Amino acid sequence: MTSDSSTSLSQARPRILTGDTPTGRLHLGHWVGSLENRVRLQDEYESFFIIANHHALTTRVEKSREIREDTLGLVIDWLSVGIDPKKSAIFIQSEVPAIAELSWYFAMLVPFNRVMRNPTLKTEIESKGLGDHYSFGFPMYAVGQIADILAFRADLVPVGEDQVPHLELSREAARRFNQLFCGVDSHADDAEHAAKGVFPIPEPKVGRIARLMGIDGAPKMGKSLGNAILLSDTAKQVQKKCNKIFTGRQSATDPGKIEGNPLWQYHDAFNPNADEVADMKAQYQAGTIGDGDCKKRLAQCINEFLEPVRERRIALEADPDHVMDVLRDGTKRANEAAEETLWLAKQAMGYDFFPRELR
Ligand code: ATP
Ligand code: MG
Repeated sequence: MTSDSSTSLSQARPRILTGDTPTGRLHLGHWVGSLENRVRLQDEYESFFIIANHHALTTRVEKSREIREDTLGLVIDWLSVGIDPKKSAIFIQSEVPAIAELSWYFAMLVPFNRVMRNPTLKTEIESKGLGDHYSFGFPMYAVGQIADILAFRADLVPVGEDQVPHLELSREAARRFNQLFCGVDSHADDAEHAAKGVFPIPEPKVGRIARLMGIDGAPKMGKSLGNAILLSDTAKQVQKKCNKIFTGRQSATDPGKIEGNPLWQYHDAFNPNADEVADMKAQYQAGTIGDGDCKKRLAQCINEFLEPVRERRIALEADPDHVMDVLRDGTKRANEAAEETLWLAKQAMGYDFFPRELR
């Protein structure tokens, strides 16, 4: 779609852009960090949910076919937790060319060293054991992510805490673009950027638990880290993984610690009975309750939460055509929005040589 308008188009509802990389199945960290907010906010916001399959190539380029499988799995994960494709556009990054084109422009607006200093990138290089062998494309994904967000002129980005530094880069790039090409003053506040610039300055929306720990006690549950309870795990698998949670406690009569203990972070997140949790924590600290009982109760709570998710998953897995239809429709809507942004950006830069139609 193209637009001949030279001013920023007013959007009926504020917009959300967020998404996940298809590097495996989603886990409980995704739910508390971002998915829960997506489901809650999809009525209020015009929502675009990206499947970042270009970014998945940064660490698995030789496994592009597996990434394709994970892409379809991600749609099923999203729909099974309650994302409604009638309200929200679910789309594939590689099928929205305006994002790749905008990445070129934003790559010129962020200093190389600024990208490389990004703490999330540094942590990922370490935790994924990339050493100094990562591809040129790996740090490039940080620039790609700027384009993901700004291509939709998003107002809000529901993410886990680890993504906040990435979002800061997007905020800087949006300001720089608006200053350079839209005459927005260098001291302008966010409201002025939204009014005069092509790009509003996106705000992060961190979930109720900013960063869910791994079952191994690592600071982050991650789908590439092998320490996750998956949304697609069976009741038995959940029970097994809960039993394996690393608490650092030697015996059931040791006074247990609460802070930094994944067992209690998970209870806080998934046990709906706050009084019960407070009571169990007190017993745990006093050394009068064993890990086993607390883990068993936790597994029950997680399984109660996952039961309706499992039922929806069974129906979705039986209907692959529906999954493809959701993707096709969402990608079409995403292309309409992103093409419009690209055209506005090109107009602002004087790069609007020929309007185009995307089919
Ligand atoms: P990978 O290990 O491949 O990087 P991931 O588990 O980190 O995968 P992403 O696709 O990178 O998942 O992240 C998708 C979204 O989920 C991001 O907003 C991220 O902040 C959020 N998220 C991921 N893991 C957690 C977690 N443990 N706690 C809170 N939010 C999380
Ligand atoms: Mg990640």
